[in-house]
Amino acid sequence: MPELPEVEGVVRALVPKVEGKTIEKVELSQTIYHSWAEGKQCIVKTIEPNLFEQALQGMTISKITRRSKYIYFHLEKDDNQYLFVNHLGMTGAWFVVQDLSEITEEKFRKHTHGVFYLTSGELLVYSDIRRFGEMRFIVKEEEHPPLMQMAPEPFEPNACYFFLEKCELPKYQNKPIKEVIMDGQVISGCGNIYATESLFKMGIHPGRKTNRISKQRKIELFEVIRNILQESIEMGGSTISDYRNINGEAGGMQHRLKMYGKKICPQCGNDTKSMVIGGRTSVYCPQCQH
Ligand SMILES: [Zn+2]
Repeated sequence: MPELPEVEGVVRALVPKVEGKTIEKVELSQTIYHSWAEGKQCIVKTIEPNLFEQALQGMTISKITRRSKYIYFHLEKDDNQYLFVNHLGMTGAWFVVQDLSEITEEKFRKHTHGVFYLTSGELLVYSDIRRFGEMRFIVKEEEHPPLMQMAPEPFEPNACYFFLEKCELPKYQNKPIKEVIMDGQVISGCGNIYATESLFKMGIHPGRKTNRISKQRKIELFEVIRNILQESIEMGGSTISDYRNINGEAGGMQHRLKMYGKKICPQCGNDTKSMVIGGRTSVYCPQCQH
């Protein structure tokens, strides 16, 4: 699943290609329409697909930004401002092409769910193999409460303090540290990959209870998370399974990962172990992490 650095990579690649351009029309997939007809809301949430298509018609994408793992397309029409918010879910990917045939990987081409025709002639294409992604058209963030509950960006000065405060809440105190640092209301944008790496670097067992870690160690852990997220942004993110930047481009961070997906610990040479924490598989070294 794309985490903060991967989403940042998508945003940075989209900005020069899409910012300032105007949407002529939108075409959503039959899969989306069928799901709505069955009372499910596949990818497009809250607003009916035909209304979503109409709403975005004629809008200018004035700015594209990232907030945690969300992509915000800031839209403008007749001096009014709107937001088109996208979450990539497990396998969402964006392409900017002249023609759909330019999407060379068949699995992405086959699972195209949104084509945004730009007046400049290009197609902005959303593809999603597993369809866990989300698209929302809203006027303000307040319309979708989870957007308001996200922790500050980890690079903001108050983010570490925010994390420490949250750790003190009864709700989090007895939870495994890995589950807590992966909670977007505690730290923004840290998922399984970077949580695994950070805990390995700190020598902390992923299942350790949050209140069994000293304040000083928590501060160090936060710094490690922030640094690894920054390093990964600079590397273009980790290309694992179906994550792509845009137009199928890969990042390079996966070559620097030391524990995520590893069978052997690079530090001591022993076999790694895995356990399920908060519903996610967690790899760790029983020798190096306590
Ligand atoms: Zn080890």
